[in-house]
Amino acid sequence: MIDLRSDTVTRPTTGMLEYMLKAGVGDDVFGEDPSVNELESLAAEMFGMESALFCPTGTMSNQIAIKAHTHPGDEVICDKTAHVYQYEGGGIAANSGAQVRLLEGDRGRFNAAMVQASINPDDVHKARTSLVCLENTSNRGGGSCYELTEIERIRETCDSNKLQFHLDGARLFNALVATGQSAKSYGELFHTISVCLNKGLGCPIGSILIGNKQFIKKARRIRKVFGGGMRQAGFMAACGIYALQNHIERLKEDHNHAKMVSARLRTKSFIKDILPVTTNIIIFEVSEGTDAKKIVANLNDMNIKCLTTSPTQIRMVFHLDIKADDIQIINKAIDAIS
Ligand SMILES: *Cc1c(COP(=O)(O)O)cnc(C)c1O
Repeated sequence: MIDLRSDTVTRPTTGMLEYMLKAGVGDDVFGEDPSVNELESLAAEMFGMESALFCPTGTMSNQIAIKAHTHPGDEVICDKTAHVYQYEGGGIAANSGAQVRLLEGDRGRFNAAMVQASINPDDVHKARTSLVCLENTSNRGGGSCYELTEIERIRETCDSNKLQFHLDGARLFNALVATGQSAKSYGELFHTISVCLNKGLGCPIGSILIGNKQFIKKARRIRKVFGGGMRQAGFMAACGIYALQNHIERLKEDHNHAKMVSARLRTKSFIKDILPVTTNIIIFEVSEGTDAKKIVANLNDMNIKCLTTSPTQIRMVFHLDIKADDIQIINKAIDAIS
């Protein structure tokens, strides 16, 4: 099976497993796991930030950040397609008692003017706007990336309105590799950043939440409340260290693979439109009269798994378990779709 449903389906590589076996571990709730401590220092250093917290999932990292930055009754500004709103089980409401203000972005990306226009006035009728959440790359935007200059403008808007600024960087390294932007420039622009280790970086589980010392102290407490205080988590943290040292540059291969497959898809009459492919995700719209579910079933019969993201949309995600040879197989299967 060639699995293009998500970049979460990867298995640890031999190198990662060997590195994991050698990991030093301790009880991380006591702060005594050397591998977790090393991963947290490494991540903080990469972003030029003070501190970091290893979390079991990206969802938990985001939800901890939102809870730390808000009070019940606050309003969080994000895109209408944002993972924090669409795919975290209503967590903003359930965990933080906050509500959302949704922006109509372009492929998941919004701008400073849209943020400015959505900030509530200081009026007792209104929810207090306290946080802006930005997603880069945007999952529902087909892996789209932001320009740094736009993020700078949004940060200025946050500063002049005393808003916190959180990055859902589940696939931030895909954006960095695709655009040549640096991790440190993101560390300067956001108050807090969450990065997934369990996506393109190829770890079995894990996410890292990065911010200043005071924020991470608060986040550590919230993580415990959420049930995310882990004990000998160093085996998993070791995978994270290995991934940060070995799996970043190779994301380029995934991006090339996505481009090669999208070039083939573009020649097919059953496809109406493909979102621009800039990283590891392809999202395409099938033509009128074509059933997206049927295309997915057809590919599945040829041992290729992908997902519909709406009745007319299909998503394919490329990752480290998809090799160059698989691209030929995928393209042949696309040619054979009947
Ligand atoms: C996958 C993902 C997350 C969180 O993922 P987990 O599966 O909880 O680790 C957060 N944001 C985005 C954009 C994602 O794609």
